[in-house]
Amino acid sequence: METVKFDELQLDERIIRAITEMGFEEASPIQAQAIPVAMEGRDMIGQAQTGTGKTAAFGLPQKVDPKVKKLQAIVLLPTRELAIQVAEEMRRFAKFMHGVKVLPIYGGQDIVKQIRSLKDGTQVIVGTPGRVMDHMRRKTVKVDHVLTVVLDEADEMLNMGFLEDMETILSQLPEERQTLMFSATMPQAIAEIARKFQKDPVTVRVIKKE
Ligand code: AMP
Repeated sequence: METVKFDELQLDERIIRAITEMGFEEASPIQAQAIPVAMEGRDMIGQAQTGTGKTAAFGLPQKVDPKVKKLQAIVLLPTRELAIQVAEEMRRFAKFMHGVKVLPIYGGQDIVKQIRSLKDGTQVIVGTPGRVMDHMRRKTVKVDHVLTVVLDEADEMLNMGFLEDMETILSQLPEERQTLMFSATMPQAIAEIARKFQKDPVTVRVIKKE
């Protein structure tokens, strides 16, 4: 496949600057395929493993409006480690977009502290389904301005017993939103989630080179 440079992807100039500073030169295959789909606002199923650069395929803060101090995007993923790591990478992408706040939210962390951080105009949360759902129930996470939801490592979330939580969260999000799903494998229950909660998704598949 031909190589694609980030400045060919019509990204916000501030994001290109951050990506360049991070040392990324060309888009990885999943990024080259997924970023245009994501920017178009289409729903997507990305079959990709870690190490393919999928975080940058869904984590670019392109559509977050820094002036709007409301939750605009939710990333769900299976573990606390991943939440911390992905939130960190998204902050780096948003380095030159001042006023974008990304917060990792996971079980086991002091909930009072989380609630305090959430009040501070967080636009993006990156978290594990159980804890995100807990906050939705407490109304410390309000989803009425959410435009984008990402299910990262959906098959792993299934393995960890988060199927019901994923469904509960998805069913409460605004109807008019974009749903991006990444999964290395496509078990029946995950295909079913896509069928129930996505609209006409584009499938993007990348095989990892060893
Ligand atoms: P991920 O699959 O998102 O966990 O990314 C794997 C690693 O590759 C991370 O350390 C990223 O920072 C890095 N990475 C992602 N995309 C690129 C790229 N286009 N060029 C160079 N490194 C990248």
